[in-house]
Amino acid sequence: MRRLARLAILLFATLACGNEPVPGDRRLAFATRDDAGFEKLGPPGPHAWRARFKERRQGFDAYVESDPVRAQPGEVLALLPVGPFSEKERAVLDRTAEFAAIWFDLPVRTLERADLPEKGWHRERTWGRQYETGWFLDRLLPGRRPREAVCTFAVTMADLYPDEDWNYVFGEASLRDRVGVWSFARYFPGFWRQEATKDSDTQALRRALMVVVHEMGHAFGIEHCQDYACAMNGSNSLEESDTQPLRLCPPCLRKLQWNRGFDVVARYGKLAAFHRANGLLPEAEWIAKRLDAIRAAK
Ligand SMILES: [Zn+2]
Ligand SMILES: [Zn+2]
Repeated sequence: MRRLARLAILLFATLACGNEPVPGDRRLAFATRDDAGFEKLGPPGPHAWRARFKERRQGFDAYVESDPVRAQPGEVLALLPVGPFSEKERAVLDRTAEFAAIWFDLPVRTLERADLPEKGWHRERTWGRQYETGWFLDRLLPGRRPREAVCTFAVTMADLYPDEDWNYVFGEASLRDRVGVWSFARYFPGFWRQEATKDSDTQALRRALMVVVHEMGHAFGIEHCQDYACAMNGSNSLEESDTQPLRLCPPCLRKLQWNRGFDVVARYGKLAAFHRANGLLPEAEWIAKRLDAIRAAK
């Protein structure tokens, strides 16, 4: 009897020990739930995305039940440069590929550059030639998409339009086909006939990083964030997306972490190193504080 009791105590002790959260679990739980340092969204301004589009809130359970796209071992994210890039513009594209690899914890493959169509699929505007997104989505990408790519995004310095009713568009994606096209043209001051400043390169890079992680986030089934200032907020304009932080709020981080299974502390460390190396110092400082809080989580 005494032996049985001792065995029971031993078993209980073992179980209790087994239930003790290991530091990685504790940190993950903290990083995906504690919202200190994150800004809650207030009512939208009159021109904001949320004022124009009433979208549903996608909770974590709904996300998992939606059976989102998940990368299989060996799969990659692919970026396809299309048309000419200056050295500076190409550097932004290369940094963006590097950043997306850290953000999603997946290799990013930059494919061999393709040419813009010589005939058709464009119109002349006062500021230059504009190309139709349909050419990229329907003609170019189906034949260029690597089989092992979770999604393939064409990136161009050409200005884009979806159809004659629209003045221009920053990009367009087909989630079903897992392809998209994005123009970085309007991210640079040259498009607006403005002089480059010491901050404009960093601003162009930040805009490119934002669009790529936001749009690839959609490819992984994450819908627009309704609760916090977050990289997954919908935006109606460049001005609105410039105000969004280049980070995921805890509920959106929880979805992406569930999808990819990365170590949140290691990922934050790599993101901070990227920010420091590329002049995005406020982002690097924010992560440093967040990491301190996560590491101190009880
Ligand atoms: Zn979006
Ligand atoms: Zn969010």
